[in-house]
Amino acid sequence: MSGLRRVLVANRGEIAVRIVRACHAAGVEAVAVHSDADEGARWVRMADHVQHIGRSAAQKSYLDAEVLLKAAKEAEADSVHPGYGFLSENADFARGVRDAGLAFIGPPPEAIELMGDKATARRTAQSAGVPVVPGSGPCTDQAQAERAAADLGYPLLVKASAGGGGRGIRPVRDAAELREVLPAAQAEAQSAFGDSTVYLERAIPQARHVEVQVLADDHGNVRHLLERDCSVQRRRQKLIEEAPAPQLSDDARRAIAEAAVRLAEHVGYRNAGTVEFLVDADENFYFIEMNTRIQVEHPITEAITGIDLVAEQLRIGGGAPLSFDQDSVRARGAAVELRINAEDPQRGFAPTPGVVTEFELPGGPGIRFDTWIGPGDRVSPFYDSLIAKLVCWGADREQAHDRARQALREFRAEGIATTAGLHERLLAEPDLRRGPVHTTWLEHLLEE
Ligand code: ADP
Ligand code: ADP
Ligand code: MG
Repeated sequence: MSGLRRVLVANRGEIAVRIVRACHAAGVEAVAVHSDADEGARWVRMADHVQHIGRSAAQKSYLDAEVLLKAAKEAEADSVHPGYGFLSENADFARGVRDAGLAFIGPPPEAIELMGDKATARRTAQSAGVPVVPGSGPCTDQAQAERAAADLGYPLLVKASAGGGGRGIRPVRDAAELREVLPAAQAEAQSAFGDSTVYLERAIPQARHVEVQVLADDHGNVRHLLERDCSVQRRRQKLIEEAPAPQLSDDARRAIAEAAVRLAEHVGYRNAGTVEFLVDADENFYFIEMNTRIQVEHPITEAITGIDLVAEQLRIGGGAPLSFDQDSVRARGAAVELRINAEDPQRGFAPTPGVVTEFELPGGPGIRFDTWIGPGDRVSPFYDSLIAKLVCWGADREQAHDRARQALREFRAEGIATTAGLHERLLAEPDLRRGPVHTTWLEHLLEE
């Protein structure tokens, strides 16, 4: 039905499991890949074909575009799903896939290029008539940065153009701090992302992170699937996400979704993407970036819309039109996602690699638990610490949260420390029970 025959899943962990499932549901074969460390992992056991792609270090396997292309060819795949992280937002990889005559289950490389670099993306958003956070163009020297900063006003953020995953962002309060931070930020951007370009953005106080899911096919359909609130963050990384965004006026909801669609149309977007905004206390909204891939938190959108996002990605990748129209996209109830990481909140969120000896899964109405872990599996130190996503749906927000608390009481992992206990405590916090919080709420709470 999707038009695809065999998909190479160029990723690992829970998203690899998710994609293999979607392939099977669509009657498509899945080719799993794995590094040394991931031999015999769950997504590998589930797949129809397997390719070993190298050493445990991601640079030598999941980030090696050439090896992945070779694996796709050897396995006779007709398409590649990049998942999130790794090569998913790498335009050269998308181009390599296309040049090899395979379908890239993501946007065209040109759209990745327009959105992948944040400074370029800001300009593109502006030309599409989408409001952006007041900010500067790329800053190369100190004097220029200080002039731009004086125009914008402090506090500011210094952002790496190529940054992502919450990394490459530094707050500055005044000119003295800017002088100190700028060279360090440039050096860090160069070593972490291979590009030293940084720019300035005004820090929006008391902001909420609200993002819009979009899907676009080859038949001219660009649709949105409502919004998500991802304001519960630590170090600018999301920990808890919910859909729909609580306590947002219908006018703001509509305006933000329309802006996201406008931007996607403007760049000739295809497949799944997310347009991220900050929303201030007066419901002014500002574009911050677009993620040109499936996101970690996509299941909460699936929970409230009933639309299988990865199935739609496969349809689009195979040239089929989207299976729904805009009018049919309605939020039913509410959903919340808790990211369960193999990290110890008692020890500064240090990663806790090791063998999982026991792993008890929660269940019941409205509960979805996406994981790649089972008893006996090893959490390796080489990769991201996300081990599971608990996604809870309820007829309303309160029920979704109550179910999440119940599910967290059922969940048990032994052998590694996880963030599950922290989530239990956070869900009991009156601020969070009452409604949306700001992006700095959790940091302040953790300080106390
Ligand atoms: P989402 O926007 O889907 O919530 P995250 O920001 O949590 O995604 O990132 C998803 C995954 O991708 C994480 O493993 C994160 O570390 C990784 N990631 C995202 N962007 C980058 C980047 N530019 N460089 C390295 N890793 C990244
Ligand atoms: P990344 O690519 O790492 O996801 P983003 O630009 O999406 O980076 O920003 C990540 C988070 O950092 C946001 O969700 C928000 O919490 C915070 N942030 C980013 N830009 C601003 C800003 N201009 N003002 C206040 N907070 C911001
Ligand atoms: Mg972001």
